[in-house]
Amino acid sequence: MTNKRIVLTFPSRLVGQPITTHLVKEYDLMLNILRANVTPNEEGRMVLELSGPKKSVEEGIDYLKNLGISVEPLSRDIKWQSEKCTHCTACIPACPSGAMSVDRETWEVSFDRDRCIACELCIGVCPFNALEIQF
Ligand code: SF4
Ligand code: SF4
Repeated sequence: MTNKRIVLTFPSRLVGQPITTHLVKEYDLMLNILRANVTPNEEGRMVLELSGPKKSVEEGIDYLKNLGISVEPLSRDIKWQSEKCTHCTACIPACPSGAMSVDRETWEVSFDRDRCIACELCIGVCPFNALEIQF
């Protein structure tokens, strides 16, 4: 058995296609969708954990690549250092998944790791280096 965490970036033409169902049925894989940001008519991004026999995992990844999906290993994760955050909200519009959000009453910013798709778009916009990549 092999476990592989991968990041998929797929074109809008494939959004809504039963790709994950196909992986489970045809390649006998177990899937755990860790994060997903899929919007109709836009590029989709998904972080998946694939489990199964090594050969099946490799064949499943080949299937994804042959469809035109970019497949990269999830080797990095995002860490929010709350003690450095000044709640300036600069990262909010940069975050496509809603992982960074602001409470409209208190104006406190928070980070929801489960929604983060590790796109790294927030890293460059934080003036206080409160967001960093963890290897
Ligand atoms: S890496 Fe940053 S911008 Fe991308 S989803 Fe995670 S928190 Fe949002
Ligand atoms: S940009 Fe940085 S300092 Fe500003 S709210 Fe986001 S994490 Fe906090």
